[in-house]
Amino acid sequence: MSVSTMAAPPIRLHARRSQAQKTPCAEWCAFVELYRLAAKSFSDAVEVLPYAPGGEFNQAWQRAERARKNLDEARSALMRHEYTHDCCTRTEASNA
Ligand SMILES: [Zn+2]
Repeated sequence: MSVSTMAAPPIRLHARRSQAQKTPCAEWCAFVELYRLAAKSFSDAVEVLPYAPGGEFNQAWQRAERARKNLDEARSALMRHEYTHDCCTRTEASNA
């Protein structure tokens, strides 16, 4: 029941901990994955803009706009989760 009463951990232990220092929930991971995918498709959509010839530019632009909105929503969802759920701000000390 009692949390650790130890002094500062040795360096080696600290280095090992830094990998698993945050233990976000599965939902957070899903939101991050959505955000990653949204960012990727936004990047892809913007990437082709300079190469879209006159007539196609509008379509490419619309696609980029949709991707941007998706990215925005994915970002909001992720941040909302971090705000309401404390899973990402947990410190390594609470890992017992
Ligand atoms: Zn969470």
